[in-house]
Amino acid sequence: MTVQPEVPSPAASQATPGGLHMVIGGERVDAADGQTFDVVNPATGKVIATAPMGGAEDVDRAVVAARKAYDEPGGWSSWSATKRGRALARYSALVKENLEELAQLESQNVGKPITSARGEALAVSLVFEYYAGAANKVFGETIPVSRPGLDLTLREPIGVVGLIVPWNFPMNMASWKLGPALAAGNTCILKPASYSPMTAIRLGELALEAGLPSGVVNVVTGPGGTAGAAIAAHPGIAKVAFTGETRTGQEIMRLAAGNVKKISLELGGKSPNIVYADADLEAFGTTSPYSVFDNCGQDCCARSRILVERAVHDRVVELFSDATRRVKVGDPADAETEMGPLVSQRQRERVREFVAIGQEEGAELVVGGGVPDDEALVDGAYLMPTVFDHVSNDMRIAREEIFGPVVSIIPFDTEEEAVRLANSTPYGLSGSIWTRDIGKALRTARAVQAGVLSINSNSSVHTEAPFGGYKMSGVGRELGMHAIELYTELKNVFIDLG
Ligand code: NAD
Repeated sequence: MTVQPEVPSPAASQATPGGLHMVIGGERVDAADGQTFDVVNPATGKVIATAPMGGAEDVDRAVVAARKAYDEPGGWSSWSATKRGRALARYSALVKENLEELAQLESQNVGKPITSARGEALAVSLVFEYYAGAANKVFGETIPVSRPGLDLTLREPIGVVGLIVPWNFPMNMASWKLGPALAAGNTCILKPASYSPMTAIRLGELALEAGLPSGVVNVVTGPGGTAGAAIAAHPGIAKVAFTGETRTGQEIMRLAAGNVKKISLELGGKSPNIVYADADLEAFGTTSPYSVFDNCGQDCCARSRILVERAVHDRVVELFSDATRRVKVGDPADAETEMGPLVSQRQRERVREFVAIGQEEGAELVVGGGVPDDEALVDGAYLMPTVFDHVSNDMRIAREEIFGPVVSIIPFDTEEEAVRLANSTPYGLSGSIWTRDIGKALRTARAVQAGVLSINSNSSVHTEAPFGGYKMSGVGRELGMHAIELYTELKNVFIDLG
């Protein structure tokens, strides 16, 4: 299946209410050429705003503003780390004060259930809080070199950094990058996905309200192929941090080669959920639907392959299917809703194509596969949570990242086979292991090639712990103190005492 990069349609009318602005050099600005694109609520199909269709010229403007903010006298990189940390603490507090607004924007922009959106807004505040505390805990080492002297290392900011984020967790992916980049003393150009510009723009405005100087956080909206590519290739940008599809990440690596940019990439996944026969099957069955259907399956960590030991296969299918049927699909504005629409009609069509492929490949459709029969949801990009059983790992539904609410159940017979199946994917982002045998759990965790694993749990993300992928799932680790490495250069200084 060919997946086209998202291309926003030019706005039908410049007069649509809710005209958004980019944030460049502390100003709220339109695109240099005045072009805009429509922002659509996927739950209703209605245009809810227009956003500037930024391009290379706007990226140039943002680079100039960010460079000035970086190294003008008294600029951001010369602030003491403690002062930067205090600014980040104010940023965190403002996000919390504006939590409801951010949650509503996100929910309307990408169809996220409002309860999830509130949790994600709070998570943004907590990430900024963490990096507020981290700012003045970034320090070097002294190294006992063999020559007579003192050898020490310094961690320094890189400069102007480009942050390109996807639409599935728009504000969280932005915060994972802004937090450590700002704590380390860099200035930033944030580019949200075209589907989801609203919270990124608001985060740019809140940075100014929090007292971060003009030009420290710039937000450029626009298509990946133009605005995104201009960031990836720009000689004035020293580092690019990207979250998105593996194919886009490969393109960004190529574009970034021109000035040998530092790069960090968080890419796709096809994560295994390994269930051994001795596991607490009820706990697995009742919680794991959320590990793949949360965010309508549009989650790089979605546990989209269930590898189940054959002895308990039937019971696991029954428990998982029953729990899947109970997932509440509906209006994202309803606090009871657990699964809203996909991000767009286009994404829904892509996922439905995979449902058809699964059936053609001979997998058994156990639950879902179609659209909800609720008349009230007819205009939205909804799809019911879908379970395929008797999948083999060489089927396309088991190999390709579907990025929708579809899970494949694959039986196995031995521990070795479970590990082989888990690793037989070009991806290596996350995964879970369910067993009561601690030895088996740890052997499996060590053997699975993935950056983020959990045992008897589906959790992947902890603000304080590293997050990132093996193999084609990425380069580098975000979150925790590990992320500071992504936004600093390491300088070695030797002082001759001989
Ligand atoms: P995408 O790759 O289409 O777009 C991501 C961002 O890149 C957007 O801002 C887009 O405008 C921009 N972009 C597109 N083409 C570009 C180009 N040529 N040059 C520069 N920028 C360009 O991804 P998406 O559809 O927005 O998000 C879904 C993907 O993101 C999935 O594959 C998912 O697994 C991945 N993802 C990974 C993680 C992780 O941490 N590993 C987290 C969330 C999402």
